[in-house]
Amino acid sequence: MKNSQIKIFCPATIANISCGFDVLGVALDSVGDEMIVKKVPQKGIFITKITGQNLPLETSKNVAGVAGTALLKASDYTGGFEIEIHKHIKPGSGIGSSAASSAGAVWAMNHLLGNPFNTTELVQFAMEGERLASEVAHADNVAPALFGGFTLVRSYAPLDIIDIPSPSELFATIIHPQIEVKTSDSRKILKTKISMATGIKQWGNVGGLIAGLFKEDYDLIGRSLVDHIVEPIRSILIPGFEGVKKASLDAGALGCGISGSGPSIFTFSKGRETAYKVGEAMKGVYQKIGIDYDVHVSKINIKGIKEIRKRTEDR
Ligand code: ADP
Repeated sequence: MKNSQIKIFCPATIANISCGFDVLGVALDSVGDEMIVKKVPQKGIFITKITGQNLPLETSKNVAGVAGTALLKASDYTGGFEIEIHKHIKPGSGIGSSAASSAGAVWAMNHLLGNPFNTTELVQFAMEGERLASEVAHADNVAPALFGGFTLVRSYAPLDIIDIPSPSELFATIIHPQIEVKTSDSRKILKTKISMATGIKQWGNVGGLIAGLFKEDYDLIGRSLVDHIVEPIRSILIPGFEGVKKASLDAGALGCGISGSGPSIFTFSKGRETAYKVGEAMKGVYQKIGIDYDVHVSKINIKGIKEIRKRTEDR
Protein backbone atom coordinates (compact mmCIF):
# COMPACT_ATOMS: atom_id res chain seq x y z
CA MET A 1 0.00 0.00 0.00
CA LYS A 2 1.26 3.47 -0.88
CA ASN A 3 1.93 5.83 2.00
CA SER A 4 -0.63 8.57 2.51
CA GLN A 5 1.58 10.65 4.82
CA ILE A 6 5.20 11.81 4.83
CA LYS A 7 7.47 13.70 7.24
CA ILE A 8 10.22 15.74 5.62
CA PHE A 9 13.24 17.95 6.36
CA CYS A 10 13.16 21.22 4.36
CA PRO A 11 16.60 22.86 4.26
CA ALA A 12 17.54 26.48 4.69
CA THR A 13 19.24 27.89 1.58
CA ILE A 14 21.67 30.68 0.69
CA ALA A 15 20.59 32.61 -2.39
CA ASN A 16 22.63 34.94 -4.63
CA ILE A 17 26.03 33.66 -3.34
CA SER A 18 27.78 37.03 -3.93
CA CYS A 19 28.06 37.30 -7.71
CA GLY A 20 24.91 35.33 -8.68
CA PHE A 21 22.03 37.68 -7.83
CA ASP A 22 18.70 35.87 -8.44
CA VAL A 23 20.41 32.93 -10.20
CA LEU A 24 22.69 31.05 -7.75
CA GLY A 25 21.69 29.20 -4.58
CA VAL A 26 22.83 26.39 -2.30
CA ALA A 27 21.09 24.09 0.21
CA LEU A 28 22.25 23.69 3.82
CA ASP A 29 22.26 20.60 5.97
CA SER A 30 22.09 21.52 9.62
CA VAL A 31 19.32 24.09 9.59
CA GLY A 32 15.82 23.60 8.24
CA ASP A 33 12.13 23.11 8.96
CA GLU A 34 10.10 19.94 9.28
CA MET A 35 6.77 19.32 7.61
CA ILE A 36 4.19 16.54 7.77
CA VAL A 37 2.02 16.26 4.68
CA LYS A 38 -0.99 13.96 4.49
CA LYS A 39 -3.36 13.00 1.66
CA VAL A 40 -7.04 13.68 2.45
CA PRO A 41 -10.20 13.07 0.38
CA GLN A 42 -11.44 16.71 0.46
CA LYS A 43 -10.13 18.87 -2.39
CA GLY A 44 -7.76 21.69 -1.34
CA ILE A 45 -4.77 22.47 0.87
CA PHE A 46 -5.42 22.63 4.60
CA ILE A 47 -2.71 23.94 6.92
CA THR A 48 -3.62 22.33 10.22
CA LYS A 49 -0.72 23.27 12.48
CA ILE A 50 2.32 25.59 12.62
CA THR A 51 4.85 25.51 15.45
CA GLY A 52 7.94 27.66 16.06
CA GLN A 53 6.68 30.85 14.39
CA ASN A 54 3.51 32.86 14.25
CA LEU A 55 2.48 32.47 10.60
CA PRO A 56 -0.95 32.39 8.93
CA LEU A 57 -2.81 29.06 8.69
CA GLU A 58 -4.94 30.44 5.87
CA THR A 59 -4.08 28.65 2.62
CA SER A 60 -3.90 31.82 0.51
CA LYS A 61 -1.64 33.62 3.04
CA ASN A 62 0.86 30.83 3.68
CA VAL A 63 3.48 30.11 1.02
CA ALA A 64 2.99 26.34 1.53
CA GLY A 65 -0.71 26.78 0.74
CA VAL A 66 -0.08 28.91 -2.34
CA ALA A 67 2.64 26.64 -3.75
CA GLY A 68 0.52 23.55 -2.98
CA THR A 69 -2.51 25.07 -4.69
CA ALA A 70 -0.42 25.71 -7.82
CA LEU A 71 0.53 22.01 -7.91
CA LEU A 72 -3.06 20.87 -7.29
CA LYS A 73 -4.29 23.02 -10.20
CA ALA A 74 -1.85 21.30 -12.57
CA SER A 75 -2.68 17.81 -11.29
CA ASP A 76 -5.62 15.52 -12.05
CA TYR A 77 -5.76 14.39 -8.39
CA THR A 78 -9.26 15.07 -7.05
CA GLY A 79 -8.46 15.04 -3.31
CA GLY A 80 -6.37 17.35 -1.13
CA PHE A 81 -3.61 17.57 1.49
CA GLU A 82 -3.25 18.50 5.14
CA ILE A 83 0.03 20.20 6.06
CA GLU A 84 1.79 20.66 9.40
CA ILE A 85 4.76 23.08 9.45
CA HIS A 86 7.37 23.03 12.21
CA LYS A 87 9.46 26.17 11.67
CA HIS A 88 13.09 26.40 12.73
CA ILE A 89 14.10 28.97 10.08
CA LYS A 90 13.07 32.47 11.13
CA PRO A 91 11.09 34.31 8.43
CA GLY A 92 12.94 37.33 7.06
CA SER A 93 16.37 36.01 8.06
CA GLY A 94 17.64 35.68 4.49
CA ILE A 95 18.16 31.92 4.54
CA GLY A 96 15.05 30.91 2.67
CA SER A 97 12.39 30.50 5.33
CA SER A 98 9.51 30.90 2.88
CA ALA A 99 11.30 28.78 0.26
CA ALA A 100 11.62 25.85 2.69
CA SER A 101 7.84 25.77 3.15
CA SER A 102 6.99 26.36 -0.54
CA ALA A 103 9.43 23.75 -1.77
CA GLY A 104 8.64 21.30 1.05
CA ALA A 105 4.90 21.38 0.35
CA VAL A 106 5.20 20.61 -3.35
CA TRP A 107 7.98 18.02 -2.91
CA ALA A 108 5.93 16.07 -0.35
CA MET A 109 2.69 16.31 -2.37
CA ASN A 110 4.47 15.11 -5.51
CA HIS A 111 5.98 12.21 -3.56
CA LEU A 112 2.56 11.15 -2.20
CA LEU A 113 1.05 11.34 -5.71
CA GLY A 114 3.73 8.99 -7.13
CA ASN A 115 6.02 11.72 -8.58
CA PRO A 116 3.98 12.91 -11.59
CA PHE A 117 6.02 16.15 -11.83
CA ASN A 118 9.75 16.60 -12.50
CA THR A 119 11.95 18.78 -10.27
CA THR A 120 11.88 21.81 -12.58
CA GLU A 121 8.05 21.69 -12.57
CA LEU A 122 8.14 21.57 -8.75
CA VAL A 123 10.37 24.68 -8.77
CA GLN A 124 7.75 26.42 -10.91
CA PHE A 125 4.98 25.64 -8.36
CA ALA A 126 7.18 26.62 -5.40
CA MET A 127 7.96 29.95 -7.09
CA GLU A 128 4.29 30.88 -6.63
CA GLY A 129 4.91 30.70 -2.87
CA GLU A 130 7.95 32.98 -3.30
CA ARG A 131 5.77 35.45 -5.19
CA LEU A 132 3.52 35.67 -2.11
CA ALA A 133 6.48 36.15 0.27
CA SER A 134 8.45 38.78 -1.66
CA GLU A 135 6.32 39.90 -4.64
CA VAL A 136 8.91 38.36 -6.99
CA ALA A 137 8.66 34.72 -8.12
CA HIS A 138 12.39 34.11 -7.76
CA ALA A 139 13.78 30.57 -7.89
CA ASP A 140 17.20 30.93 -6.30
CA ASN A 141 16.10 29.53 -2.90
CA VAL A 142 13.49 26.97 -4.00
CA ALA A 143 15.75 25.48 -6.71
CA PRO A 144 18.54 24.35 -4.33
CA ALA A 145 15.94 23.21 -1.75
CA LEU A 146 14.40 20.92 -4.40
CA PHE A 147 17.51 19.86 -6.38
CA GLY A 148 20.02 19.86 -3.49
CA GLY A 149 23.56 21.27 -3.57
CA PHE A 150 24.32 24.31 -5.72
CA THR A 151 21.95 25.35 -8.49
CA LEU A 152 22.12 27.91 -11.28
CA VAL A 153 18.94 29.36 -12.76
CA ARG A 154 20.34 29.75 -16.29
CA SER A 155 17.04 31.13 -17.56
CA TYR A 156 13.69 32.08 -16.03
CA ALA A 157 11.71 31.95 -19.30
CA PRO A 158 11.81 29.13 -20.11
CA LEU A 159 12.82 27.94 -16.64
CA ASP A 160 16.19 26.15 -16.98
CA ILE A 161 17.91 25.03 -13.80
CA ILE A 162 21.39 23.54 -13.76
CA ASP A 163 22.60 21.30 -10.95
CA ILE A 164 26.20 22.19 -9.96
CA PRO A 165 28.46 19.77 -8.03
CA SER A 166 29.51 20.60 -4.46
CA PRO A 167 33.13 20.17 -3.36
CA SER A 168 33.18 17.69 -0.48
CA GLU A 169 35.13 19.86 1.99
CA LEU A 170 33.06 23.01 1.49
CA PHE A 171 31.28 24.31 4.61
CA ALA A 172 29.05 27.33 5.11
CA THR A 173 28.99 29.54 8.20
CA ILE A 174 26.05 31.91 8.55
CA ILE A 175 25.46 34.63 11.08
CA HIS A 176 21.98 36.10 11.48
CA PRO A 177 22.11 39.43 13.32
CA GLN A 178 18.76 40.00 15.02
CA ILE A 179 17.78 43.06 13.05
CA GLU A 180 14.96 43.45 10.56
CA VAL A 181 15.62 44.08 6.87
CA LYS A 182 12.45 43.87 4.77
CA THR A 183 13.00 41.94 1.50
CA SER A 184 10.90 44.56 -0.30
CA ASP A 185 13.14 47.40 1.07
CA SER A 186 16.34 45.60 0.15
CA ARG A 187 14.99 45.15 -3.41
CA LYS A 188 13.77 48.76 -3.73
CA ILE A 189 17.21 50.27 -3.12
CA LEU A 190 18.86 48.32 -5.96
CA LYS A 191 19.76 50.07 -9.20
CA THR A 192 18.04 48.81 -12.34
CA LYS A 193 20.99 49.55 -14.64
CA ILE A 194 24.67 48.59 -14.48
CA SER A 195 27.61 49.65 -16.63
CA MET A 196 29.29 47.36 -19.15
CA ALA A 197 32.50 47.49 -17.07
CA THR A 198 30.61 46.27 -13.97
CA GLY A 199 28.86 43.54 -15.99
CA ILE A 200 32.19 42.24 -17.26
CA LYS A 201 33.58 41.94 -13.73
CA GLN A 202 30.41 40.25 -12.47
CA TRP A 203 30.05 37.57 -15.15
CA GLY A 204 33.76 36.82 -14.86
CA ASN A 205 33.12 35.93 -11.23
CA VAL A 206 29.97 33.89 -11.95
CA GLY A 207 31.93 31.82 -14.47
CA GLY A 208 34.85 31.55 -12.04
CA LEU A 209 32.62 30.35 -9.20
CA ILE A 210 30.93 27.69 -11.35
CA ALA A 211 34.33 26.52 -12.66
CA GLY A 212 35.72 26.46 -9.10
CA LEU A 213 32.83 24.27 -7.92
CA PHE A 214 33.30 21.84 -10.82
CA LYS A 215 37.08 21.69 -10.39
CA GLU A 216 36.95 21.60 -6.56
CA ASP A 217 39.34 24.54 -6.72
CA TYR A 218 38.81 26.24 -3.35
CA ASP A 219 41.07 29.21 -4.14
CA LEU A 220 39.16 29.90 -7.35
CA ILE A 221 35.87 29.68 -5.42
CA GLY A 222 37.24 32.22 -2.95
CA ARG A 223 38.52 34.60 -5.65
CA SER A 224 35.13 34.48 -7.38
CA LEU A 225 33.01 35.25 -4.30
CA VAL A 226 32.88 38.94 -5.18
CA ASP A 227 29.76 41.00 -5.90
CA HIS A 228 30.21 44.32 -7.72
CA ILE A 229 26.49 45.01 -8.14
CA VAL A 230 24.27 44.27 -5.13
CA GLU A 231 26.53 43.99 -2.07
CA PRO A 232 27.94 47.55 -2.23
CA ILE A 233 24.36 48.88 -1.98
CA ARG A 234 22.65 46.33 0.24
CA SER A 235 25.43 46.01 2.78
CA ILE A 236 24.57 49.53 3.98
CA LEU A 237 21.39 48.02 5.53
CA ILE A 238 23.42 45.53 7.60
CA PRO A 239 25.29 47.06 10.54
CA GLY A 240 28.70 45.45 11.06
CA PHE A 241 28.83 43.92 7.57
CA GLU A 242 32.32 45.15 6.65
CA GLY A 243 33.67 44.13 10.07
CA VAL A 244 32.21 40.63 9.76
CA LYS A 245 33.63 40.28 6.27
CA LYS A 246 37.12 41.31 7.34
CA ALA A 247 37.08 39.15 10.50
CA SER A 248 35.88 36.07 8.60
CA LEU A 249 38.46 36.41 5.83
CA ASP A 250 41.20 36.96 8.44
CA ALA A 251 40.02 33.75 10.17
CA GLY A 252 40.47 31.77 6.95
CA ALA A 253 37.11 31.97 5.12
CA LEU A 254 37.29 31.62 1.33
CA GLY A 255 34.77 34.41 0.85
CA CYS A 256 31.92 36.27 2.52
CA GLY A 257 28.71 37.91 1.31
CA ILE A 258 25.07 38.70 2.04
CA SER A 259 22.80 35.66 2.26
CA GLY A 260 19.71 36.26 0.12
CA SER A 261 18.44 39.75 0.80
CA GLY A 262 20.04 39.78 4.28
CA PRO A 263 20.46 40.47 7.10
CA SER A 264 22.20 37.07 7.36
CA ILE A 265 25.82 37.02 6.20
CA PHE A 266 27.34 33.80 4.80
CA THR A 267 30.89 32.57 4.39
CA PHE A 268 32.33 29.47 2.76
CA SER A 269 35.34 27.68 4.21
CA LYS A 270 37.40 24.64 3.34
CA GLY A 271 36.85 22.17 6.18
CA ARG A 272 34.65 22.07 9.26
CA GLU A 273 37.33 23.34 11.65
CA THR A 274 37.89 26.57 9.70
CA ALA A 275 34.12 27.03 9.37
CA TYR A 276 33.75 26.98 13.19
CA LYS A 277 36.74 29.31 13.64
CA VAL A 278 35.17 31.72 11.16
CA GLY A 279 31.90 31.53 13.14
CA GLU A 280 33.73 32.63 16.31
CA ALA A 281 35.32 35.55 14.45
CA MET A 282 31.93 36.64 13.08
CA LYS A 283 30.33 36.42 16.55
CA GLY A 284 33.09 38.64 17.98
CA VAL A 285 32.06 41.52 15.70
CA TYR A 286 28.41 41.50 16.84
CA GLN A 287 29.40 41.01 20.48
CA LYS A 288 31.40 44.25 20.20
CA ILE A 289 28.55 46.16 18.53
CA GLY A 290 26.01 44.69 20.98
CA ILE A 291 23.65 43.04 18.46
CA ASP A 292 22.27 39.55 19.21
CA TYR A 293 22.81 36.85 16.61
CA ASP A 294 22.33 33.20 15.63
CA VAL A 295 25.18 31.28 14.02
CA HIS A 296 24.86 28.16 11.85
CA VAL A 297 27.69 26.00 10.55
CA SER A 298 26.68 23.51 7.87
CA LYS A 299 28.09 21.28 5.24
CA ILE A 300 26.49 21.55 1.81
CA ASN A 301 23.30 19.49 1.55
CA ILE A 302 23.56 17.69 -1.77
CA LYS A 303 20.18 15.95 -1.43
CA GLY A 304 17.95 18.93 -0.64
CA ILE A 305 14.57 18.07 0.86
CA LYS A 306 14.52 14.59 2.36
CA GLU A 307 12.17 12.21 4.08
CA ILE A 308 12.61 11.81 7.84
CA ARG A 309 11.93 8.17 8.54
CA LYS A 310 12.65 7.73 12.25
CA ARG A 311 13.43 10.68 14.47
CA THR A 312 16.50 12.40 12.91
CA GLU A 313 17.63 9.40 10.85
CA ASP A 314 18.66 10.28 7.26
CA ARG A 315 19.51 13.93 8.03
P1 ADP B 1 13.67 34.78 4.04
O1 ADP B 1 14.25 36.17 3.90
O2 ADP B 1 14.16 34.07 5.25
O3 ADP B 1 13.83 33.99 2.79
P2 ADP B 1 11.23 35.64 3.18
O4 ADP B 1 11.34 37.13 3.32
O5 ADP B 1 11.44 35.02 1.85
O6 ADP B 1 12.16 34.95 4.25
O7 ADP B 1 9.77 35.20 3.61
C1 ADP B 1 9.17 35.63 4.76
C2 ADP B 1 7.75 36.15 4.43
O8 ADP B 1 6.89 35.09 3.98
C3 ADP B 1 7.12 36.69 5.70
O9 ADP B 1 6.38 37.83 5.34
C4 ADP B 1 6.17 35.57 6.14
O10 ADP B 1 5.07 36.04 6.87
C5 ADP B 1 5.74 34.98 4.80
N1 ADP B 1 5.32 33.57 4.92
C6 ADP B 1 4.13 33.03 4.61
N2 ADP B 1 4.12 31.70 4.82
C7 ADP B 1 5.33 31.36 5.30
C8 ADP B 1 5.92 30.13 5.70
N3 ADP B 1 5.27 28.97 5.68
N4 ADP B 1 7.20 30.17 6.11
C9 ADP B 1 7.90 31.33 6.16
N5 ADP B 1 7.39 32.53 5.79
C10 ADP B 1 6.11 32.56 5.36
